[in-house]
Amino acid sequence: MFGQLRVGEVLRSSQNRDPSIEVMDGHPNIHHRTASKVLAPIQLSKGINPIAEVKVARAVRRPAVLIRSSPWKAGSVETPWHDEFDLENGRITYFGDHRVDHTVPVGKTQGNKVLQRVWINHRATTEQERALAAPLLVFATVTRNKTPKGYVKFCGLAVIKDVEEIEQSDKGRTFPNFRYELALLDLGAENDLLNWSWIEARGNRTLSAAETLEHAPRSWRRWVEGGHAALPEVRQRPLQVAEPEVDQRTANRPAGHDTLFPAPPQSQNGPVPGVERQARQPKLTAAVLMEKLRSLRVHRQGGLPSRHKPLALMWAIARNARGESRFSPWPEFREEVGKLLLEFGRPQSTPTPEYPFWHLRTSGLWEIDGFPAEREGKVSVSALDESKPKAGFTHEADRLLRDPFVRSQAIAVLRETYFAESAQHRLMEQVGLAGYENASGVEETTEEQEQSGPAERRATNTSRIVRDAGLANRVKEMHADHCQVCGEQLAKRFGTYSEAAHVRGLGQPHNGPDELANLLVLCPNHHVQFDTLAIYIDPDGVVRATADGRRQGTLRRLPQHVISEAHLRYHRALCGRDTPNR
Ligand SMILES: [Zn+2]
Repeated sequence: MFGQLRVGEVLRSSQNRDPSIEVMDGHPNIHHRTASKVLAPIQLSKGINPIAEVKVARAVRRPAVLIRSSPWKAGSVETPWHDEFDLENGRITYFGDHRVDHTVPVGKTQGNKVLQRVWINHRATTEQERALAAPLLVFATVTRNKTPKGYVKFCGLAVIKDVEEIEQSDKGRTFPNFRYELALLDLGAENDLLNWSWIEARGNRTLSAAETLEHAPRSWRRWVEGGHAALPEVRQRPLQVAEPEVDQRTANRPAGHDTLFPAPPQSQNGPVPGVERQARQPKLTAAVLMEKLRSLRVHRQGGLPSRHKPLALMWAIARNARGESRFSPWPEFREEVGKLLLEFGRPQSTPTPEYPFWHLRTSGLWEIDGFPAEREGKVSVSALDESKPKAGFTHEADRLLRDPFVRSQAIAVLRETYFAESAQHRLMEQVGLAGYENASGVEETTEEQEQSGPAERRATNTSRIVRDAGLANRVKEMHADHCQVCGEQLAKRFGTYSEAAHVRGLGQPHNGPDELANLLVLCPNHHVQFDTLAIYIDPDGVVRATADGRRQGTLRRLPQHVISEAHLRYHRALCGRDTPNR
């Protein structure tokens, strides 16, 4: 546990900062856990405790700010107000360090000044600015051994979501202060552990922002990429409770489904006394979206799931990918999804587009607009033809799917859950998602080549995709033609051979960059497997088989060839291996 903080753990934080003492008074010594050769010993005596900034290229970087609160001690002289900790939902309301007897303007006290600086990067609109943002590490004071001071619980990693200037009162006098709304990020991918090596890397002036990100938790990297728009996806979340199902056809569910999503105690329509409905209905996150896609209620024939709903969803995702509106009119849906059902449905099933059009509502991801409520009891093709309603993803689902990572992941989940036993190439083409079938993508001009078969397509890909041959040669030279997956150096009659593979393909819809950080050196076998999504690189750099997660080895890296974690993650999403709970 040296060098790590675990969410929820109570640590001893005393005046004795000797890092060699592991345990003090029965609790891990925080100075042991945060011991560093680079950074000075941490401070936790105040509410807002910054770690000293370091100068990096054209900017300064603060390794972290440690926040300490006493949320359960409100009302004391020291803490006259209430910081609110809603750890279940990953929300903290934190009050700044202005006090009633301060004469400086609000924002000029030491702590507020630090957090105001932090806020500039946390609210930033570009990835470059967010890469400089200081992580907040939140601790809460807890009483142990009958001592109210000297023990803290690590609550997690947070970003400032919002700041408000407010008026507070103390001893009958009012004064201004700042109220910070913090969002806790999910450390589930790291088993709720925060590695101090990340904070250390941030304090190392010789490392670039990109290099420090290699050490960051997955949720932080995602937040740096997407900003606050990514918060629904990366926020620390409570145990998810699904919407109640209208009709429990448990026999048709995969085993274990019901324990994953226990039905809430009351029906959807009956409000729970004292609990707002909002609180029981979890916000749709990417992880919940994937779970809903995996557990569609579908008819089964001979043990195989019907493809009506999955095909309709694939078609709707393709619309989303083209930037079209989420609702499609019934006549268009009937025509296009009907065609898909005819070609790709199960042999014995009838192509009934009205079935998914209507019944996808139970997925919680789909809604229908413009169908008269009084006719809902008798839905038929003629009723649909007559009133021409529209249907499509809910606003929330549509918004999430506009994120290319989420969309790639969703497509992969549908493919492996409902179409695993088929080759899928023609399906992906017909549905309009051909580019998601492989890591390199497709170019719009290659329709003819697409028709001429896999061997030739592969050959044309190689010459087309490596746009900068010099760059490809350079990276192959760096690795001396050794495959980064298996280490093999393929011998030719004279010399050796390897291939440069783009992690995020240059073709549509991936549009990856032709740069060193987006290239891997692979042997031909592993190049094909990587391109066809048969293998992926997990967040720890382990190469895994997509089908069963089996470890194939560790990605072989060179210090002079840093590979972008964002691009690796993009590839994982294409493989359907980017959900925190997988
Ligand atoms: Zn290899």
